[in-house]
Amino acid sequence: MHHYRELQRILDGHPVGAPEAEEFLEILKILFRPDEVAIATALDFKLRPVDEVAAKCGLSAAEVGRRLEAMADRGVVLSKPGPAGRLYALLPVFPGLFEYPFMKYGGDTPEQRRLAELWQAYYMKAWARSLAEADPPWMRVLPAEQALPEITEVLPYEVASEMIKKAGEMALGRCSCRVAVGKCHNPVDVCLVFDGAARFLIERGIARRISLDKALAVLRETEEAGLVHCTSNNTGQLLFLCNCCPCCCHVLRLVVEHDYPRALARSSYLARVGPECTGCGTCAETRCPMKAITLQETAAVNEDRCIGCGLCVTTCPTGAMTLVKRPAHAEPPPSPQVLYALNAARRTGK
Ligand code: SF4
Ligand code: SF4
Repeated sequence: MHHYRELQRILDGHPVGAPEAEEFLEILKILFRPDEVAIATALDFKLRPVDEVAAKCGLSAAEVGRRLEAMADRGVVLSKPGPAGRLYALLPVFPGLFEYPFMKYGGDTPEQRRLAELWQAYYMKAWARSLAEADPPWMRVLPAEQALPEITEVLPYEVASEMIKKAGEMALGRCSCRVAVGKCHNPVDVCLVFDGAARFLIERGIARRISLDKALAVLRETEEAGLVHCTSNNTGQLLFLCNCCPCCCHVLRLVVEHDYPRALARSSYLARVGPECTGCGTCAETRCPMKAITLQETAAVNEDRCIGCGLCVTTCPTGAMTLVKRPAHAEPPPSPQVLYALNAARRTGK
Protein backbone atom coordinates (compact mmCIF):
# COMPACT_ATOMS: atom_id res chain seq x y z
CA MET A 1 0.00 0.00 0.00
CA HIS A 2 2.81 2.43 0.72
CA HIS A 3 3.67 2.67 -3.00
CA TYR A 4 0.10 3.79 -3.75
CA ARG A 5 0.27 6.41 -1.00
CA GLU A 6 3.59 7.59 -2.40
CA LEU A 7 2.09 7.81 -5.90
CA GLN A 8 -0.82 9.89 -4.56
CA ARG A 9 1.66 12.23 -2.91
CA ILE A 10 3.62 12.65 -6.16
CA LEU A 11 0.41 13.27 -8.15
CA ASP A 12 -0.70 15.83 -5.57
CA GLY A 13 2.56 17.69 -6.27
CA HIS A 14 1.29 18.55 -9.77
CA PRO A 15 -0.40 21.99 -10.00
CA VAL A 16 -3.72 20.22 -10.72
CA GLY A 17 -3.43 18.35 -7.41
CA ALA A 18 -4.73 14.96 -6.25
CA PRO A 19 -5.99 15.36 -2.68
CA GLU A 20 -5.71 12.43 -0.33
CA ALA A 21 -8.75 10.15 0.03
CA GLU A 22 -9.30 6.41 0.37
CA GLU A 23 -11.31 6.46 -2.86
CA PHE A 24 -8.33 7.85 -4.75
CA LEU A 25 -6.08 5.10 -3.43
CA GLU A 26 -8.65 2.57 -4.66
CA ILE A 27 -8.61 4.26 -8.08
CA LEU A 28 -4.82 4.07 -8.20
CA LYS A 29 -4.95 0.36 -7.31
CA ILE A 30 -7.12 -0.27 -10.36
CA LEU A 31 -5.12 1.95 -12.73
CA PHE A 32 -1.65 0.75 -11.64
CA ARG A 33 -1.11 -2.98 -11.11
CA PRO A 34 0.93 -4.21 -8.12
CA ASP A 35 3.97 -4.93 -10.31
CA GLU A 36 3.78 -1.44 -11.87
CA VAL A 37 3.22 0.93 -8.98
CA ALA A 38 6.83 1.01 -7.74
CA ILE A 39 7.92 1.90 -11.28
CA ALA A 40 5.27 4.63 -11.45
CA THR A 41 6.65 6.16 -8.24
CA ALA A 42 10.06 6.40 -9.93
CA LEU A 43 8.51 8.76 -12.51
CA ASP A 44 7.53 12.42 -12.23
CA PHE A 45 5.99 14.88 -14.69
CA LYS A 46 9.18 15.33 -16.73
CA LEU A 47 9.70 12.93 -19.65
CA ARG A 48 12.57 10.53 -18.80
CA PRO A 49 14.29 7.63 -20.59
CA VAL A 50 13.79 4.01 -19.45
CA ASP A 51 17.41 3.67 -18.22
CA GLU A 52 16.95 6.52 -15.77
CA VAL A 53 13.68 5.09 -14.42
CA ALA A 54 15.18 1.57 -14.19
CA ALA A 55 18.23 2.84 -12.25
CA LYS A 56 15.93 4.61 -9.79
CA CYS A 57 13.83 1.53 -9.05
CA GLY A 58 16.60 -1.09 -9.23
CA LEU A 59 15.13 -3.26 -12.00
CA SER A 60 16.45 -4.12 -15.46
CA ALA A 61 15.79 -1.63 -18.26
CA ALA A 62 14.09 -4.37 -20.31
CA GLU A 63 11.64 -5.16 -17.49
CA VAL A 64 10.91 -1.51 -16.73
CA GLY A 65 10.49 -0.72 -20.45
CA ARG A 66 7.96 -3.54 -20.85
CA ARG A 67 5.87 -2.39 -17.89
CA LEU A 68 6.01 1.29 -18.88
CA GLU A 69 4.76 0.35 -22.35
CA ALA A 70 1.83 -1.57 -20.81
CA MET A 71 0.95 1.46 -18.65
CA ALA A 72 1.20 3.83 -21.65
CA ASP A 73 -1.07 1.52 -23.67
CA ARG A 74 -3.72 1.82 -20.95
CA GLY A 75 -3.38 5.62 -20.84
CA VAL A 76 -2.03 5.88 -17.27
CA VAL A 77 1.53 6.93 -18.18
CA LEU A 78 2.57 9.41 -20.90
CA SER A 79 5.03 8.27 -23.54
CA LYS A 80 6.69 10.12 -26.40
CA PRO A 81 9.51 9.22 -28.78
CA GLY A 82 12.80 10.90 -27.82
CA PRO A 83 16.06 11.36 -29.75
CA ALA A 84 17.54 8.15 -28.27
CA GLY A 85 14.48 6.05 -27.47
CA ARG A 86 11.16 6.29 -25.70
CA LEU A 87 10.53 8.78 -22.89
CA TYR A 88 7.96 8.37 -20.09
CA ALA A 89 6.28 10.60 -17.52
CA LEU A 90 3.40 10.53 -15.07
CA LEU A 91 0.10 12.02 -16.19
CA PRO A 92 -1.74 14.47 -13.93
CA VAL A 93 -5.23 13.56 -12.72
CA PHE A 94 -6.73 16.03 -15.21
CA PRO A 95 -6.39 15.85 -18.14
CA GLY A 96 -4.91 12.38 -17.93
CA LEU A 97 -5.63 9.71 -15.33
CA PHE A 98 -9.34 10.43 -15.18
CA GLU A 99 -9.91 10.85 -18.92
CA TYR A 100 -7.67 8.50 -20.85
CA PRO A 101 -8.73 5.11 -19.42
CA PHE A 102 -12.43 5.97 -19.93
CA MET A 103 -11.62 7.27 -23.41
CA LYS A 104 -9.92 4.02 -24.27
CA TYR A 105 -12.20 1.41 -22.66
CA GLY A 106 -15.58 3.15 -22.75
CA GLY A 107 -16.91 2.34 -19.30
CA ASP A 108 -18.76 -0.93 -19.95
CA THR A 109 -16.66 -3.50 -18.05
CA PRO A 110 -17.11 -4.23 -14.32
CA GLU A 111 -13.68 -2.66 -13.70
CA GLN A 112 -14.66 0.50 -15.57
CA ARG A 113 -17.96 0.72 -13.72
CA ARG A 114 -16.13 0.40 -10.40
CA LEU A 115 -13.73 3.14 -11.50
CA ALA A 116 -16.68 5.39 -12.39
CA GLU A 117 -18.18 4.86 -8.91
CA LEU A 118 -14.88 5.61 -7.23
CA TRP A 119 -14.23 8.77 -9.27
CA GLN A 120 -17.74 10.01 -8.41
CA ALA A 121 -17.19 9.34 -4.69
CA TYR A 122 -13.77 11.02 -4.88
CA TYR A 123 -15.29 14.03 -6.70
CA MET A 124 -17.91 14.48 -4.00
CA LYS A 125 -15.43 14.07 -1.15
CA ALA A 126 -12.33 15.98 -2.28
CA TRP A 127 -11.74 16.34 -6.02
CA ALA A 128 -14.52 18.87 -6.78
CA ARG A 129 -13.25 21.28 -4.12
CA SER A 130 -9.68 20.93 -5.35
CA LEU A 131 -10.73 21.61 -9.00
CA ALA A 132 -12.84 24.58 -7.91
CA GLU A 133 -9.98 26.20 -6.01
CA ALA A 134 -7.99 26.70 -9.23
CA ASP A 135 -7.13 30.36 -9.78
CA PRO A 136 -7.09 31.00 -12.71
CA PRO A 137 -9.71 28.31 -13.40
CA TRP A 138 -8.54 25.30 -15.47
CA MET A 139 -11.20 25.61 -18.16
CA ARG A 140 -12.89 28.41 -20.07
CA VAL A 141 -16.00 28.67 -22.21
CA LEU A 142 -15.84 29.26 -25.94
CA PRO A 143 -18.97 30.84 -27.42
CA ALA A 144 -20.95 28.81 -29.96
CA GLU A 145 -19.65 29.74 -33.41
CA GLN A 146 -23.13 30.30 -34.77
CA ALA A 147 -23.83 32.81 -31.98
CA LEU A 148 -20.80 35.04 -32.48
CA PRO A 149 -21.96 38.56 -33.26
CA GLU A 150 -20.80 40.11 -36.51
CA ILE A 151 -20.77 43.65 -35.23
CA THR A 152 -18.26 43.38 -32.37
CA GLU A 153 -14.58 42.65 -32.53
CA VAL A 154 -14.14 38.93 -31.87
CA LEU A 155 -11.15 37.87 -29.82
CA PRO A 156 -9.06 35.40 -31.84
CA TYR A 157 -8.71 32.99 -28.92
CA GLU A 158 -12.51 32.74 -28.68
CA VAL A 159 -13.15 31.49 -32.22
CA ALA A 160 -13.01 27.72 -31.87
CA SER A 161 -12.84 26.97 -35.60
CA GLU A 162 -9.95 29.39 -36.17
CA MET A 163 -7.94 27.86 -33.32
CA ILE A 164 -8.62 24.34 -34.61
CA LYS A 165 -7.40 25.36 -38.08
CA LYS A 166 -3.98 26.22 -36.60
CA ALA A 167 -3.53 22.77 -34.98
CA GLY A 168 -1.33 20.18 -36.69
CA GLU A 169 -2.64 16.83 -35.44
CA MET A 170 -6.27 16.30 -34.37
CA ALA A 171 -7.84 13.38 -32.53
CA LEU A 172 -11.39 12.53 -31.52
CA GLY A 173 -12.21 10.43 -28.47
CA ARG A 174 -14.98 9.61 -26.06
CA CYS A 175 -16.05 12.20 -23.49
CA SER A 176 -14.85 10.63 -20.24
CA CYS A 177 -17.26 12.62 -18.08
CA ARG A 178 -20.26 11.35 -20.08
CA VAL A 179 -18.87 7.80 -20.06
CA ALA A 180 -18.26 7.84 -16.30
CA VAL A 181 -21.30 9.80 -15.11
CA GLY A 182 -23.75 8.77 -17.86
CA LYS A 183 -26.62 11.01 -16.83
CA CYS A 184 -27.71 12.00 -20.37
CA HIS A 185 -28.02 10.71 -23.91
CA ASN A 186 -25.87 13.39 -25.51
CA PRO A 187 -23.30 12.21 -28.06
CA VAL A 188 -20.20 10.67 -26.48
CA ASP A 189 -17.72 10.76 -29.35
CA VAL A 190 -17.09 14.52 -29.07
CA CYS A 191 -13.80 15.10 -27.25
CA LEU A 192 -11.25 16.88 -29.46
CA VAL A 193 -7.53 16.75 -28.66
CA PHE A 194 -4.71 18.48 -30.52
CA ASP A 195 -1.03 18.17 -31.37
CA GLY A 196 1.24 16.46 -28.76
CA ALA A 197 -1.58 14.93 -26.70
CA ALA A 198 -3.35 13.89 -29.92
CA ARG A 199 -0.25 12.06 -31.15
CA PHE A 200 0.03 10.12 -27.88
CA LEU A 201 -3.68 9.20 -27.82
CA ILE A 202 -3.68 8.13 -31.48
CA GLU A 203 -0.52 6.05 -31.05
CA ARG A 204 -2.05 4.19 -28.07
CA GLY A 205 -5.48 3.62 -29.62
CA ILE A 206 -7.13 5.89 -27.04
CA ALA A 207 -8.51 8.36 -29.61
CA ARG A 208 -8.57 8.35 -33.41
CA ARG A 209 -6.96 10.69 -35.94
CA ILE A 210 -9.47 12.97 -37.70
CA SER A 211 -9.37 15.57 -40.46
CA LEU A 212 -10.00 19.30 -40.05
CA ASP A 213 -13.38 18.87 -41.77
CA LYS A 214 -14.40 16.26 -39.21
CA ALA A 215 -13.27 18.48 -36.30
CA LEU A 216 -15.34 21.38 -37.67
CA ALA A 217 -18.32 19.05 -38.12
CA VAL A 218 -18.00 18.05 -34.43
CA LEU A 219 -18.18 21.74 -33.49
CA ARG A 220 -21.39 22.22 -35.51
CA GLU A 221 -23.04 19.01 -34.30
CA THR A 222 -22.29 19.67 -30.63
CA GLU A 223 -23.68 23.21 -30.87
CA GLU A 224 -26.86 21.81 -32.37
CA ALA A 225 -27.03 19.25 -29.55
CA GLY A 226 -26.77 22.07 -26.97
CA LEU A 227 -23.30 21.23 -25.66
CA VAL A 228 -20.95 23.91 -24.31
CA HIS A 229 -17.53 24.27 -25.93
CA CYS A 230 -14.89 24.38 -23.17
CA THR A 231 -11.12 24.43 -23.49
CA SER A 232 -8.01 24.88 -21.38
CA ASN A 233 -8.02 28.38 -19.86
CA ASN A 234 -5.09 29.78 -21.84
CA THR A 235 -4.47 31.48 -25.15
CA GLY A 236 -1.60 30.59 -27.47
CA GLN A 237 -1.97 26.83 -27.70
CA LEU A 238 -5.10 24.75 -28.11
CA LEU A 239 -4.68 21.54 -26.08
CA PHE A 240 -8.21 20.12 -26.17
CA LEU A 241 -11.78 21.16 -26.81
CA CYS A 242 -14.52 19.50 -24.76
CA ASN A 243 -18.22 19.62 -25.57
CA CYS A 244 -19.85 19.67 -22.17
CA CYS A 245 -23.22 19.13 -20.55
CA PRO A 246 -24.13 20.42 -17.07
CA CYS A 247 -25.21 16.96 -15.87
CA CYS A 248 -21.95 15.04 -16.50
CA CYS A 249 -19.06 17.53 -16.97
CA HIS A 250 -17.00 17.70 -13.79
CA VAL A 251 -16.24 21.39 -14.37
CA LEU A 252 -19.72 22.65 -15.35
CA ARG A 253 -21.10 20.70 -12.38
CA LEU A 254 -18.88 22.75 -10.07
CA VAL A 255 -20.94 25.81 -11.03
CA VAL A 256 -24.37 24.20 -11.47
CA GLU A 257 -24.40 21.66 -8.61
CA HIS A 258 -21.72 22.76 -6.20
CA ASP A 259 -22.13 26.54 -6.26
CA TYR A 260 -18.57 27.43 -7.21
CA PRO A 261 -19.43 30.25 -9.67
CA ARG A 262 -15.77 31.09 -10.36
CA ALA A 263 -14.67 27.50 -11.09
CA LEU A 264 -15.00 28.08 -14.84
CA ALA A 265 -13.78 31.07 -16.84
CA ARG A 266 -16.67 32.58 -18.80
CA SER A 267 -16.40 33.78 -22.38
CA SER A 268 -16.10 37.53 -22.93
CA TYR A 269 -19.82 37.64 -23.82
CA LEU A 270 -23.15 37.49 -22.10
CA ALA A 271 -26.62 36.94 -23.48
CA ARG A 272 -29.02 39.85 -23.93
CA VAL A 273 -32.75 39.77 -24.74
CA GLY A 274 -34.09 42.24 -27.31
CA PRO A 275 -37.61 43.62 -27.86
CA GLU A 276 -38.36 40.92 -30.45
CA CYS A 277 -38.76 38.33 -27.67
CA THR A 278 -42.17 36.65 -27.84
CA GLY A 279 -41.72 34.66 -24.62
CA CYS A 280 -41.76 31.35 -26.48
CA GLY A 281 -39.55 29.80 -23.75
CA THR A 282 -37.14 27.87 -26.01
CA CYS A 283 -34.06 29.51 -24.53
CA ALA A 284 -35.06 28.98 -20.89
CA GLU A 285 -36.58 25.55 -21.21
CA THR A 286 -34.38 23.70 -23.69
CA ARG A 287 -31.12 25.56 -24.26
CA CYS A 288 -29.54 27.32 -21.30
CA PRO A 289 -27.28 24.82 -19.47
CA MET A 290 -26.80 27.17 -16.52
CA LYS A 291 -30.46 27.91 -15.72
CA ALA A 292 -29.57 31.56 -16.30
CA ILE A 293 -32.80 32.52 -18.08
CA THR A 294 -36.14 33.13 -16.41
CA LEU A 295 -39.37 33.63 -18.25
CA GLN A 296 -42.28 35.84 -17.44
CA GLU A 297 -43.88 37.59 -20.39
CA THR A 298 -40.48 37.66 -21.99
CA ALA A 299 -37.10 36.09 -21.23
CA ALA A 300 -34.66 37.66 -18.75
CA VAL A 301 -30.97 36.72 -18.33
CA ASN A 302 -29.31 36.46 -14.93
CA GLU A 303 -25.91 37.95 -15.81
CA ASP A 304 -24.21 36.40 -12.79
CA ARG A 305 -25.12 32.91 -13.97
CA CYS A 306 -24.56 33.43 -17.71
CA ILE A 307 -21.28 31.91 -18.94
CA GLY A 308 -21.52 33.36 -22.45
CA CYS A 309 -21.85 30.02 -24.26
CA GLY A 310 -24.30 31.40 -26.84
CA LEU A 311 -26.46 28.27 -26.97
CA CYS A 312 -29.61 30.31 -26.31
CA VAL A 313 -28.82 32.54 -29.30
CA THR A 314 -28.64 29.81 -31.92
CA THR A 315 -32.20 28.55 -31.46
CA CYS A 316 -34.07 31.77 -30.67
CA PRO A 317 -36.76 31.85 -33.39
CA THR A 318 -37.11 35.64 -33.46
CA GLY A 319 -33.47 36.69 -33.22
CA ALA A 320 -34.23 38.43 -29.92
CA MET A 321 -31.39 36.74 -28.05
CA THR A 322 -27.90 37.96 -28.91
CA LEU A 323 -24.42 37.91 -27.39
CA VAL A 324 -22.98 41.23 -26.24
CA LYS A 325 -19.57 41.97 -24.74
CA ARG A 326 -19.20 41.71 -20.99
CA PRO A 327 -18.17 45.06 -19.52
CA ALA A 328 -15.01 43.60 -17.93
CA HIS A 329 -13.23 40.49 -19.11
CA ALA A 330 -9.87 39.19 -17.89
CA GLU A 331 -7.66 37.78 -20.64
CA PRO A 332 -6.68 34.12 -20.01
CA PRO A 333 -3.02 33.25 -19.26
CA PRO A 334 -0.92 33.27 -22.45
CA SER A 335 0.06 29.57 -22.37
CA PRO A 336 -0.64 26.30 -20.55
CA GLN A 337 2.73 26.68 -18.82
CA VAL A 338 1.71 30.04 -17.30
CA LEU A 339 -1.68 28.61 -16.27
CA TYR A 340 0.12 25.75 -14.49
CA ALA A 341 2.73 28.07 -12.94
CA LEU A 342 0.08 30.43 -11.53
CA ASN A 343 -1.77 27.52 -9.95
CA ALA A 344 1.46 25.95 -8.65
CA ALA A 345 2.29 29.26 -6.97
CA ARG A 346 -1.21 29.42 -5.50
CA ARG A 347 -0.87 25.91 -4.04
CA THR A 348 2.60 26.34 -2.61
CA GLY A 349 2.17 29.96 -1.56
CA LYS A 350 5.34 30.94 -3.45
S1 SF4 B 1 -36.03 31.83 -27.47
FE1 SF4 B 1 -35.98 33.98 -28.11
S2 SF4 B 1 -38.15 34.55 -28.40
FE2 SF4 B 1 -38.13 32.63 -27.22
S3 SF4 B 1 -38.20 33.32 -25.05
FE3 SF4 B 1 -36.03 33.08 -25.58
S4 SF4 B 1 -35.37 35.13 -26.26
FE4 SF4 B 1 -37.62 35.11 -26.28
S1 SF4 C 1 -28.03 32.66 -21.02
FE1 SF4 C 1 -27.48 30.50 -20.77
S2 SF4 C 1 -27.38 29.66 -22.86
FE2 SF4 C 1 -27.40 31.89 -23.04
S3 SF4 C 1 -25.21 32.43 -23.18
FE3 SF4 C 1 -25.81 32.59 -21.00
S4 SF4 C 1 -25.32 30.57 -20.12
FE4 SF4 C 1 -25.31 30.32 -22.35
